[in-house]
Amino acid sequence: QQAVAVDYQAVLEQIAHDVSPLLGSGRPAEYIPALAGVDPARFGMAVADLQGNVYGVGDWRHPFSAQSITKVFTLALVLAADGDALWRRVGREPSGNPFNSLVQLEYENGIPRNPFINAGALVVTDALQTLTGDASSELLEFLREESGNKELAFDPEVAASEAGHGDRNAALAHFMASYGNIAGPVPALLDHYFWQCSITTSCADLTLAARFLARHGLRADGSRLLSRSQAKQINAVMLTCGTYDAAGEFAHRVGLPGKSGVGGGIVAVVPGRCTLCVWSPGLDAHGNSVAGVAALDRFTTLTGLSVF
Ligand code: GLU
Repeated sequence: QQAVAVDYQAVLEQIAHDVSPLLGSGRPAEYIPALAGVDPARFGMAVADLQGNVYGVGDWRHPFSAQSITKVFTLALVLAADGDALWRRVGREPSGNPFNSLVQLEYENGIPRNPFINAGALVVTDALQTLTGDASSELLEFLREESGNKELAFDPEVAASEAGHGDRNAALAHFMASYGNIAGPVPALLDHYFWQCSITTSCADLTLAARFLARHGLRADGSRLLSRSQAKQINAVMLTCGTYDAAGEFAHRVGLPGKSGVGGGIVAVVPGRCTLCVWSPGLDAHGNSVAGVAALDRFTTLTGLSVF
């Protein structure tokens, strides 16, 4: 099938118009002050094509807390460094439970359902920590290189707040450690996990940084990060598990691999074509951005660019 040219800028402007009645719907995450204080009516969206041209609308350069979107990149770094070994420690099934749930771990011997629930992300971070000795710095450096934004940084206030509200994550990590599924010391693992969550990015940064998923594993400089097969696997896990326990709804509406975070961002991928990032901090009951999901829904509807 011949690829149809799309005027991304015109599509983004149309989407910003279409979702404007939704801005202010939903509520920002309230568990930490740095997220609770963000204006829910903000909206930005960006598209990057395979060559790295970026198109944007609204607050597409405005910084926000990447939160769980970083889980995609940590997973990519572990698969790149260590191949399939990770899949003995973490599954690939949607959980159908809240992202921070403990219950399945007991029935499944400390093996989390997938890499994007918190338990799974803790295992992935532990794996990256074992491989590199400094998981959060490796992640930050990768995001800087792929986005071309050397200013990308951790937010110490967010990291400290995450740690202050980290009892559930600590419980998950200790519980999995009791099954032998955490290799390093739990306190250091939690620090790296909280620093990861705290990275401040923008739609512009994340569309560029995620391009390896649209480029079948190739990094911005043309070197290979992942095999085609591994890039496909990450996209598949994003589609089935990337948007909390609403991944079925997201697939139904948007039809793209996507990963959301409680900062209100969502990254989505059209393999072989482009990457998208949308940000609007008002969240629905599942933790996904209300206007963000609607905007991605409009994108695939207007362009026909979905994986289906
Ligand atoms: N920092 C959050 C936590 O681990 C993750 C939030 C998210 O899902 O974006 O509880």
